[in-house]
Amino acid sequence: MVGTKTVEVTCEKCNKMYEAEAIDHIDLHDDRSLIRNLKSGKANRVQCPKCKKVMYLKRSIVINFEPESKIVVFDASAKTKAAKEELQKTFASVVAFNETLEETGNETEFIVLHDLASLKRLLEQYLKVYD
Ligand SMILES: [Zn+2]
Repeated sequence: MVGTKTVEVTCEKCNKMYEAEAIDHIDLHDDRSLIRNLKSGKANRVQCPKCKKVMYLKRSIVINFEPESKIVVFDASAKTKAAKEELQKTFASVVAFNETLEETGNETEFIVLHDLASLKRLLEQYLKVYD
Protein backbone atom coordinates (compact mmCIF):
# COMPACT_ATOMS: atom_id res chain seq x y z
CA MET A 1 0.00 0.00 0.00
CA VAL A 2 1.23 3.46 -0.83
CA GLY A 3 0.99 5.97 1.98
CA THR A 4 0.53 9.50 0.77
CA LYS A 5 0.11 12.81 2.44
CA THR A 6 -1.17 16.12 1.14
CA VAL A 7 1.57 18.72 1.30
CA GLU A 8 1.84 22.36 0.37
CA VAL A 9 4.31 23.12 -2.35
CA THR A 10 5.64 26.48 -3.39
CA CYS A 11 6.57 26.63 -7.04
CA GLU A 12 10.23 27.54 -7.40
CA LYS A 13 9.54 29.31 -10.67
CA CYS A 14 6.37 31.40 -10.17
CA ASN A 15 5.98 31.10 -6.37
CA LYS A 16 2.44 29.81 -6.59
CA MET A 17 1.43 27.70 -3.60
CA TYR A 18 -0.46 24.53 -4.34
CA GLU A 19 -1.32 21.21 -2.76
CA ALA A 20 0.12 17.92 -3.95
CA GLU A 21 0.07 14.28 -2.88
CA ALA A 22 3.47 13.28 -1.62
CA ILE A 23 4.51 9.68 -1.16
CA ASP A 24 5.51 8.85 2.40
CA HIS A 25 5.61 5.10 2.37
CA ILE A 26 5.88 2.36 -0.24
CA ASP A 27 5.55 -1.39 0.14
CA LEU A 28 7.60 -2.84 -2.71
CA HIS A 29 5.63 -6.04 -2.66
CA ASP A 30 2.41 -4.24 -3.62
CA ASP A 31 3.70 -1.26 -5.50
CA ARG A 32 5.82 -2.69 -8.28
CA SER A 33 4.80 0.10 -10.60
CA LEU A 34 6.59 2.62 -8.41
CA ILE A 35 9.97 0.88 -8.44
CA ARG A 36 10.94 2.46 -11.74
CA ASN A 37 10.19 5.95 -10.40
CA LEU A 38 12.13 5.22 -7.25
CA LYS A 39 15.13 4.09 -9.26
CA SER A 40 15.20 7.26 -11.27
CA GLY A 41 14.69 9.43 -8.21
CA LYS A 42 11.33 10.63 -9.48
CA ALA A 43 8.93 9.18 -6.95
CA ASN A 44 7.73 12.51 -5.65
CA ARG A 45 7.11 14.42 -8.82
CA VAL A 46 4.80 17.43 -8.66
CA GLN A 47 3.75 19.96 -11.26
CA CYS A 48 2.70 23.56 -10.80
CA PRO A 49 -0.89 24.04 -12.04
CA LYS A 50 -0.11 27.59 -13.09
CA CYS A 51 3.21 27.56 -14.95
CA LYS A 52 3.59 23.75 -15.34
CA LYS A 53 7.01 23.72 -13.71
CA VAL A 54 7.91 20.19 -12.62
CA MET A 55 9.66 19.72 -9.29
CA TYR A 56 10.76 16.74 -7.24
CA LEU A 57 9.93 17.05 -3.56
CA LYS A 58 12.79 16.73 -1.14
CA ARG A 59 11.13 14.42 1.35
CA SER A 60 12.07 11.15 2.90
CA ILE A 61 10.32 8.02 1.65
CA VAL A 62 9.99 4.91 3.76
CA ILE A 63 10.41 1.81 1.61
CA ASN A 64 9.35 -1.55 2.95
CA PHE A 65 11.28 -4.38 1.26
CA GLU A 66 8.85 -7.07 2.37
CA PRO A 67 8.95 -10.07 2.45
CA GLU A 68 12.51 -9.23 3.50
CA SER A 69 12.72 -7.76 6.98
CA LYS A 70 14.24 -4.60 5.67
CA ILE A 71 13.08 -1.02 5.79
CA VAL A 72 14.93 1.68 3.91
CA VAL A 73 14.43 5.36 4.47
CA PHE A 74 15.54 7.22 1.39
CA ASP A 75 16.25 10.86 2.04
CA ALA A 76 18.45 12.73 -0.41
CA SER A 77 19.14 15.40 2.19
CA ALA A 78 20.35 12.98 4.91
CA LYS A 79 23.94 13.24 3.77
CA THR A 80 25.67 13.49 7.12
CA LYS A 81 26.11 10.84 9.75
CA ALA A 82 24.16 13.03 12.21
CA ALA A 83 21.21 13.35 9.85
CA LYS A 84 21.16 9.57 9.36
CA GLU A 85 21.31 8.98 13.11
CA GLU A 86 18.40 11.38 13.57
CA LEU A 87 16.26 9.29 11.21
CA GLN A 88 17.38 6.10 12.96
CA LYS A 89 16.26 7.59 16.26
CA THR A 90 12.89 8.58 14.81
CA PHE A 91 12.41 5.00 13.68
CA ALA A 92 13.40 3.65 17.09
CA SER A 93 10.89 5.91 18.87
CA VAL A 94 8.08 5.02 16.45
CA VAL A 95 8.82 1.35 17.08
CA ALA A 96 8.84 1.85 20.85
CA PHE A 97 5.32 3.31 20.81
CA ASN A 98 3.78 0.68 18.59
CA GLU A 99 3.34 -2.80 20.02
CA THR A 100 3.06 -4.64 16.71
CA LEU A 101 6.07 -2.84 15.35
CA GLU A 102 7.99 -3.43 18.52
CA GLU A 103 7.78 -7.16 17.93
CA THR A 104 8.87 -7.02 14.32
CA GLY A 105 10.96 -3.88 14.69
CA ASN A 106 13.68 -5.61 16.60
CA GLU A 107 14.22 -8.08 13.79
CA THR A 108 13.94 -5.54 11.04
CA GLU A 109 17.01 -4.18 9.37
CA PHE A 110 16.67 -0.42 9.15
CA ILE A 111 18.79 1.47 6.66
CA VAL A 112 18.98 5.19 5.94
CA LEU A 113 20.19 6.07 2.46
CA HIS A 114 20.77 9.39 0.79
CA ASP A 115 22.33 8.41 -2.51
CA LEU A 116 20.28 7.14 -5.39
CA ALA A 117 22.96 4.72 -6.60
CA SER A 118 22.76 2.67 -3.39
CA LEU A 119 18.97 2.67 -3.47
CA LYS A 120 19.04 1.53 -7.08
CA ARG A 121 21.36 -1.34 -6.18
CA LEU A 122 19.01 -2.53 -3.42
CA LEU A 123 15.97 -2.28 -5.68
CA GLU A 124 17.70 -4.26 -8.42
CA GLN A 125 18.68 -6.97 -5.96
CA TYR A 126 15.10 -7.09 -4.76
CA LEU A 127 13.70 -7.39 -8.29
CA LYS A 128 16.14 -10.17 -9.11
CA VAL A 129 14.81 -12.24 -6.22
CA TYR A 130 11.10 -11.39 -6.23
CA ASP A 131 10.19 -10.39 -9.76
ZN1 LIG B 1 4.65 27.75 -11.08
